[in-house]
Amino acid sequence: MHSNIISASAIDRLGSMLDRAMNIVITCHLSPDGDAMGSSLGLCNALRNAGFKARVCVPDTPPKYLMFLPGASEIVIYSRSQAYVSRLMNGADIVFCLDYNEPKRIDLMEQVMMESPAPKVMVDHHLNPADFPAVTISHPEESSTSVLIYHVLSALGMQDRINADVAMCLYTGMMTDTGNFSYNSNNPAIYRVIADLVERGIDKDWIYRKVYFSNTLSRLQLNGYALENKLEVFEEHKAALITLTREELNRFHYQKGDTEDLVNKPLTIADVTYSVFLREEADYIKVSTRSKGEFPVNLMCREHFNGGGHLNAAGGEFYGTLQEAVEVFHRIMPLFDRYL
Ligand code: 5GP
Ligand code: MN
Repeated sequence: MHSNIISASAIDRLGSMLDRAMNIVITCHLSPDGDAMGSSLGLCNALRNAGFKARVCVPDTPPKYLMFLPGASEIVIYSRSQAYVSRLMNGADIVFCLDYNEPKRIDLMEQVMMESPAPKVMVDHHLNPADFPAVTISHPEESSTSVLIYHVLSALGMQDRINADVAMCLYTGMMTDTGNFSYNSNNPAIYRVIADLVERGIDKDWIYRKVYFSNTLSRLQLNGYALENKLEVFEEHKAALITLTREELNRFHYQKGDTEDLVNKPLTIADVTYSVFLREEADYIKVSTRSKGEFPVNLMCREHFNGGGHLNAAGGEFYGTLQEAVEVFHRIMPLFDRYL
């Protein structure tokens, strides 16, 4: 399937970079989600199918529920293998930056990425891309980086490299960044892409079960506990808040990714327009936000929680106590009433 959303000049430049390249490093953001992992592994597998030496390097450990993706076990994790990542970065002919718009999103891996002599290629769908890459393919109107990778591979004439493994990775990113096609999902082109990926041999129902039916008992109970005991709804502001302390997380044997979907749950209440989840980490408060319609949670995260993201899904980090983060939330709620 041919698509014309990617600029021809970006594809020309990327094509000639690839003509001269062999070693390729692919990076994605901290706490990689389905789209970060799906786009990175999809591109990695496609490049390997084309004869390149490609590796995915991520800042921190990916969540277990995404480890079924082909190639996931070969991902190099910077927090565990700093010297190896540095070596790969220094020996790379191209470094891809996928699913993030600014270097600080790869956390401690930022320095080795930026200092790599290789030209950088960004493929992303977040607003306001930073201008460090040699080639920037930034499409905030697209629902996932994974669908962008599909279009980039097609535009490069690499459709024949999209085998079932690549298709599985790209579909996973498309599915997770749209909540299984329940938001940002009105572009008909994504269904044409899905049709093509299914024809290439994926079992989309199996992928759904791998991603969404991956609970452990303690994870399910942590989420149940949070909804029963820690969810507050502020009717006049159409807002919902969930907080979890370290002690509560530990009580339920919290593992990374265990609260991935929790912030979405309050949005199922008809009169809740946006949802905020504050999770106490060792040295900061992780902020996760989701909204319906035009309510800009990215603005809230950018202005008050050192973060950003998309209109309906954004996040950030708050440097202070959980109580202080809650106080900020209470203070800003009325300021955001005008977006309701
Ligand atoms: P999540 O709530 O799943 O961590 O993040 C949702 C979305 O918000 C991500 O896809 C990303 O776009 C954005 N996001 C999350 N955390 C941060 C952050 O610390 N900084 C920025 N700029 N964006 C974030
Ligand atoms: Mn994404």
